Amino acid sequence: MSPQIDEENITKSLSAEQAAPRDIADTLAEHKALKISRKNLDCWVIGCDQILVFEGEIFGKPASREALKDSLSRLSGQTHRLITANVIYKDCKPQWRHIAISYMSMRSMSAAEIDAYVATYWQEVKQAAGGYHFERTPDLFFAVRGNWFDIMGLSIGPIIGFLNQIDTNNPYQNPKLAAVLGHPIAQSKSPRIHGHWLEKNGISGDYIAIDIPPAHFNDTLNMLFDVGFSGFNVTIPHKEQALAFADHMSPRAQRIGAANTLIKTDIGDIRADNTDGYGFITNLSTQSETWQPKAGPALVLGAGGAARAILVALLDVGVPKIYLSNRTRARADDLAAEISDLIEVIDWQDKEDVLPEAFTVVNSTSLGMTGKAALDFDLTDINPHALVTDLIYAPLETQLLKDARGRGCEVVGGIGMLLHQAVPGFEAWFGTRPEVDQELEALILT
Ligand code: NAP
Repeated sequence: MSPQIDEENITKSLSAEQAAPRDIADTLAEHKALKISRKNLDCWVIGCDQILVFEGEIFGKPASREALKDSLSRLSGQTHRLITANVIYKDCKPQWRHIAISYMSMRSMSAAEIDAYVATYWQEVKQAAGGYHFERTPDLFFAVRGNWFDIMGLSIGPIIGFLNQIDTNNPYQNPKLAAVLGHPIAQSKSPRIHGHWLEKNGISGDYIAIDIPPAHFNDTLNMLFDVGFSGFNVTIPHKEQALAFADHMSPRAQRIGAANTLIKTDIGDIRADNTDGYGFITNLSTQSETWQPKAGPALVLGAGGAARAILVALLDVGVPKIYLSNRTRARADDLAAEISDLIEVIDWQDKEDVLPEAFTVVNSTSLGMTGKAALDFDLTDINPHALVTDLIYAPLETQLLKDARGRGCEVVGGIGMLLHQAVPGFEAWFGTRPEVDQELEALILT
């Protein structure tokens, strides 16, 4: 609820009385809580306010683009305080209050960077004190001393502590946090997957998507761990950087040479994992009743990021030999040399030649995806006992899968890989092994 108090005048008169910024934040939070409490007697009401202070001055919402540029150029390269005040009222009486102070160190921004930021974010941030939303652009900061929820304006941990004191029967859990990091990231389906599991399992926590430009990946990641994240999924273009960032890595992440999952362990160090191959194999083994990886060679099309994980995973489950074919042959040669001498590279135009031998056929190119070019692949000679799978899940059934089905092959689509690869991360961050089921699949496809 937005209580519509006259924040500007209250702040002005308190400032004139030389009130400390923390007292101003506390008073504003109190005014808001009281206003709502009057209309909601018997309810517990939380009032919140945040004040940004730099060099003793309170920075409010920027009045114009120019004002935002001025405030960013003053905050750039400096540390400011973000004061978060929370009060709880019941029956118009204060029950509890809390002040949290976060120290936010903004990286130095050039005038051109500030101009670009204002051009991109003005509409979003014109209502935000100081002109930023930390969750949207955490890479504006190189270090933060504080807690994610305080910075977001709601000091969840202390609030839960208070609520658990007054009602000891059903203690609330402190929420856990995870996110997917990429650049861009808006297209990611991971928040829907993890959000569904959090809700379904009644877990207190949040999973969000954060866009981080590659140049600021390490600093921002360090800072996000510092403010309380349990871990992350990592996607393009950060997978290699994520592996290098970690203190230690799973053997499969090491072999793949990239990480898609980062986990903060109980002793505070960072472990990297790569669950793409796990997701791929689990998808095949749960969807197919007949697939036998050891039955014979596999043919893998594509030598991009996804192919690395697929090759390692296929060898790990006992595929005796892999034919690898990619439009850019050199990329396939490099991958084969790096991973195993059980991989034989074949020219892109010769990929059909090995179809009679292959028992597993995988498309890990982006060809056949909605909006992309078609995969030109003649299945006339395919082994009818082969299992054919496509990593693409939009469309759900690609032309490759339709053609393979038409030739009597068993086929498996790519959506299950996306869902299964998310399982190990969720279990590590939130402490419950989630289920991949039809309900989740339907949700992700809508
Ligand atoms: P990537 O690193 O960009 O690799 C793209 C691959 O597609 C490369 O092998 C590239 O060949 C090939 N390619 C692109 N355009 C081509 C064309 N016109 N003709 C021939 N080959 C072409 O991408 P990625 O991360 O490996 O992902 C590949 C696909 O898998 C994407 O569609 C992605 O959505 C899907 N995927 C699905 C899941 C899942 O969970 N189901 C997970 C990961 C990826 P060159 O080397 O010659 O460029």
